[in-house]
Amino acid sequence: MNFAVKTIIIMGSLMPLDYYAGRSTTMKVKSIIVGPIKSNCYIVYDEKSSDAIVIDPGDEAGKIMREIDEDHLKVHYIVCTHGHFDHIGAVAEVKKETGAKVAINKKDIEIYKHAGELAASWGLHIVEPPEPDLLVEDGDEIVVGSLQFKVFITPGHSPGGICLYGQGVLFTGDTIFAGSVGRTDLYGGDMEELKKSFVRLISFPSDTEILPGHGSSSTIKEEKATNFFVRRISI
Ligand SMILES: [Zn+2]
Repeated sequence: MNFAVKTIIIMGSLMPLDYYAGRSTTMKVKSIIVGPIKSNCYIVYDEKSSDAIVIDPGDEAGKIMREIDEDHLKVHYIVCTHGHFDHIGAVAEVKKETGAKVAINKKDIEIYKHAGELAASWGLHIVEPPEPDLLVEDGDEIVVGSLQFKVFITPGHSPGGICLYGQGVLFTGDTIFAGSVGRTDLYGGDMEELKKSFVRLISFPSDTEILPGHGSSSTIKEEKATNFFVRRISI
């Protein structure tokens, strides 16, 4: 296992971008629904430079690779929002095909390494995930071409769940969904932590677009108005 890094700089020009400036015109996102639990895998790339990251390749590596190859994308990082099998099941194959580095928070390493066991308990099978290359922490940056993303540690659904924020878009994994939040009854789940993470996320600018780990997209404004968990955070 490798060391944690504070700042990740990868190929492409490093242009100053305001995280809060709204969605970049050069950022493209491909959303792919994968696997029996219908996880959202996101391929996020700078359309000018073709530099890309893949967020949560949960299953169906072939489907993900077809999308990557279609646009001749250069994938530098595979970012795991957390270690559950339905988000990491295709990490091994996508890493093998692209040579990308795998990033995850250290508090989800145990879950990541034992993801196959959780999958088996659901009657499913995944390819054993490789050793992560990078352990990301709160405040770390991932730079892809002209795109910049900031890492937010948002425990609750799992101990080391992360969200990625950049160009006005928040990739929330299983922390927040449209109208809902991630379950806390799996190993390492914690309702009090989830409440804190939820409060942190809904303090983002209201026009922030949310791209969650399952289900449809949303906005912070929409979640403040409709998410049932808003009522739970004061309890
Ligand atoms: Zn999960």
